[in-house]
Amino acid sequence: MNNNSSLSHRKAEPENGILYLVGTPIGNLNDISQRALNILKNVSLVACEDTRQTKKIMNKFNISNKLISFNKQNSLIKTPNLLKDLKEGKSIAIVSDAGMPGICDPGEDIAKIARSQGIDIIGIPGACAAITALISSGLPSSTFVFEGFLPRKQSEREEVLFEISKNIKTTIIYESPKRLKKLLRELYEFCGGDREIMIARELTKKFEEHIGYTIKEVSELFKDKEVVGEITIVIKGINKKKDFNLDKLIIKKDLNELINAGLSLSAASKYLAKKNGIKKSEIYNLI
Ligand code: SAM
Repeated sequence: MNNNSSLSHRKAEPENGILYLVGTPIGNLNDISQRALNILKNVSLVACEDTRQTKKIMNKFNISNKLISFNKQNSLIKTPNLLKDLKEGKSIAIVSDAGMPGICDPGEDIAKIARSQGIDIIGIPGACAAITALISSGLPSSTFVFEGFLPRKQSEREEVLFEISKNIKTTIIYESPKRLKKLLRELYEFCGGDREIMIARELTKKFEEHIGYTIKEVSELFKDKEVVGEITIVIKGINKKKDFNLDKLIIKKDLNELINAGLSLSAASKYLAKKNGIKKSEIYNLI
């Protein structure tokens, strides 16, 4: 085995003309790597989602460097200049307010354009709420689906919820505390109350909590509570053989589609009963 770290093949960092996407803490400021600090200190400039937020890290580690703001509102205007700087040989670090840039945060779009223009991109690993929640959930973590924030538009949202309901893999969702109760109601409706879930609140911070067992229990727990703090949700996938809820959901979805296509309830139920080898009355019971 070659004991040389692959990094030893690279020149000293930061290198000219490279776009660095630097992971920063999601709460606990000590969750930052030496390598990330070195990049922040020595790149030509640091493009941050919010300069005030990044300054907290810079101040804690006695780093000063040129900071510019780079966020959802101004990225379209600023991206061409940053790409020009990179082509002229500057090195640039992108940082978000918390965690990994590009994960529901600025960074994704500029990385896409940089790639299309042949600019090298290097990710500097750091904290990520999704991964931190997943590994501390105790739920299967080797394969998983990350949904980020669910769409706001109801039809798109229901499509994703339906996907989650029949997924055999663990799902991770970001949600604002204000909307957690609504999401729990939806998850209850789509996945049933018995599905295992873990709500990770305030990861890496003083009041970190992992709240869970089933959707039903968690929904009851939060019913009369004001939800505050940052929230990531981890939902266990279905057990393919045991999950009767899934069949029901699929039949219900098929039924709606047939009715929308113009079939009467009776005709659609008769067809689905035959297709699924169950009684017509069982289909009626689903609605
Ligand atoms: N780029 C970040 C990352 O790598 O995790 C995610 C940014 S996204 C705009 C913010 C969302 O991440 C929050 O609404 C919440 O769902 C989740 N999040 C961030 N920090 C968290 C924390 N300390 N505890 C739990 N969830 C967190």
